[in-house]
Amino acid sequence: MKLIFKGVVQGVGFRPTIYRIAKKLDLKGYVLNKGSEVEVVIDSKKDEFLKQVEKHLPSIAKITNIIERKDDRTFDDFQIIHSEKGEKQSLIPYDIGICKDCQKELFDENDRRYHFPFTNCTVCGARYSLVQDVPYDRERTSMKNFKLCKDCQREYENPLNRRYHAQTISCPKCGPSYRLYDKNKKDLGEKNAIKRFAGLIDTGKIGVIKAWGGMHLCCNINKISRFREWYGRPQKAFAIMVKNIEIAKKYGKITEDEKKLLLSKNKPIVLIEKIRLDEASPGLNTIGLFLPYTGLHNILFSYLKADAMVMTSSNIPGEAMITTDEEAFSIDADIYLLHNRPIPNRVDDSVVRLWKGNTFFIRKSRGYVPEPIAISYNKRVLSVGAGENITGAISHDKNIFTTQYIGNSKYYSAIEFLEESLRHMMKLTMKKPIIDAVVQDLHPGYNSRNVAKIFSEEFSAPLFDVQHHWAHAASLLIDNNLDESVILAVDGLGYGSDGNFWGGEVLVSNFNNFKRVGHLEYIPLVGGDQATRDPRRLVFAIFLKFGKQKFFTGSEAEILSKIIKKSPMSCSLGRFLDALSCYLNICCKRTYDGELAMKLEKYLANGKARYTFDIDVKKGIVNTTNIFRQIDEMIKPPLSEKQIADLAYSMVKTAVDALTDIAIDQAHKNNIRTIGLTGGVSYNIPITEIVEERVKNAGLSLIVHNRVPNGDGGISIGQNVIIGHKLST
Ligand SMILES: [Zn+2]
Ligand SMILES: [Zn+2]
Repeated sequence: MKLIFKGVVQGVGFRPTIYRIAKKLDLKGYVLNKGSEVEVVIDSKKDEFLKQVEKHLPSIAKITNIIERKDDRTFDDFQIIHSEKGEKQSLIPYDIGICKDCQKELFDENDRRYHFPFTNCTVCGARYSLVQDVPYDRERTSMKNFKLCKDCQREYENPLNRRYHAQTISCPKCGPSYRLYDKNKKDLGEKNAIKRFAGLIDTGKIGVIKAWGGMHLCCNINKISRFREWYGRPQKAFAIMVKNIEIAKKYGKITEDEKKLLLSKNKPIVLIEKIRLDEASPGLNTIGLFLPYTGLHNILFSYLKADAMVMTSSNIPGEAMITTDEEAFSIDADIYLLHNRPIPNRVDDSVVRLWKGNTFFIRKSRGYVPEPIAISYNKRVLSVGAGENITGAISHDKNIFTTQYIGNSKYYSAIEFLEESLRHMMKLTMKKPIIDAVVQDLHPGYNSRNVAKIFSEEFSAPLFDVQHHWAHAASLLIDNNLDESVILAVDGLGYGSDGNFWGGEVLVSNFNNFKRVGHLEYIPLVGGDQATRDPRRLVFAIFLKFGKQKFFTGSEAEILSKIIKKSPMSCSLGRFLDALSCYLNICCKRTYDGELAMKLEKYLANGKARYTFDIDVKKGIVNTTNIFRQIDEMIKPPLSEKQIADLAYSMVKTAVDALTDIAIDQAHKNNIRTIGLTGGVSYNIPITEIVEERVKNAGLSLIVHNRVPNGDGGISIGQNVIIGHKLST
């Protein structure tokens, strides 16, 4: 009989698995890749065969359907029939954390890959980060200069071997290797390099490790304060790599879903409720944990006395991650552990937060890119994202492929990286590079527009602008396979159709159109960007409305009062949270993106709605300054931590409830059953839960993100679907 397997069945070690099972059961027939499916012919024992396939399915394979057909041909043997040469693989795999079998070999003294840091097999290892072109063969990866030794060649050719046709196969004899270097680039040799590096980290040295898709800065967790001083990052949260899942439980209160995600083949950084090690993320209620995902990490932990270490991307925040030794040496660490395999594609670690079974991607990169998202149109649309947390996207053949996390478009390195990654993504996924349209954000000042212009001119493709929050809304719709919803788009700042900065929006949105039906009150961003960096200016502007002076007096206040008249206006929920965080003295100094709102979240998580405020909503505009006026009349400092938490929660709930009520009202009017929540502020769990409760009580359902990043990492997808639909109708 003939069996046709559909799903993720190519390039994932599926055929060799079929071969091994058929051989074991002494079946005759063949297995063959056909299109995007796998065709198998066997002569008997179908039930036993299928049972075995299910049992031994490679971890990254997924069968969605099996079709059975009659086939009475007879064969003498069971064979893997090779597909025609040059056939394009339907799916380029992403980087997959080391599998259990490889891990076992790593620590088996009798195995020829004992302590070999590049150990991998058909179902695990670096993929996207080392692929230079398709079809996915060794000569088109960064492994091309490592010629297979005889033993590896034998494994590569043997269908019964786990590494049959594994393009990145290697061993200590023929593969890449690590060497140790000191801060003066002096080569300290290969012998025991990892062991010596571990010893130095234990004594408190700051190290650089070259991994798959980039370089990490690392240090002992007992030395975080020295590390912060050296790095010039007094407050920023650092990811912590822990030895294993048991150790992870020491630092974070891990739910069953979070445990699964930490152990998954994707191996992202997961934000978890923090139990200890406040220095890792000062003032936040979460800690970013992840598990070793390469052979190197596993070997390193076997030598380290410490059970956890700081492991953070070595780059200036927002700039592209460094990939070469030369760049690494310029950062002046104490000790370097570098290997001799180039990094063709840098891929940062992914960062994920879970909420009630939903996946919020803060950064979607290693372990997920280039997994496509299915769409209904065929148009080839290239979109370049917004200004911060940029990703690019290209659609074709009813799929959108998003690039890895790029960075902040104000840096030249990030802009270069955006162009390069889009070209690479096109090369890997398109038969011929053709672009029907290019999309950019409406903001005239974003440098991502330069990249849009380059592609638009090169491919003579029309260039479209899409409003920022509509793009957020569309990205949420496609994430949920919906056509229309009322959507709360809440974030830091996005350029509005009226020239003001939006970010506290209620939009009735579909792919063809959006209607802005409500928003928070506009407040002046005193001095523009300066108000984002120094939130005291926001508080000053809010209270000036009531004739009160906060934070600034005398000539300073006078100057600011003058600047206010010329300042841009913003109705962003992010800025409201910044102002509140500063007003309540939780945090007034911003040293990294999102710091104030994130520190406020800790208070929101502990707060109760003990205070009530009057709120006016006129013509869909929620008057937020009035809440500040009321709180100022109400409180008598000093406040306890508990009071601060309750006040913060009560104020945020008042504003967010009012915004949600506008959405609910519009849903009823337009006969829509869902309310959506998107934008950078939607990573905030207490705020998400405030919205959820209100929406539920109104008998509607809340939709949130799962595959597309909530924040600006999802903008390129929203831009793409809006223009894709426009061109298709
Ligand atoms: Zn493996
Ligand atoms: Zn070898």
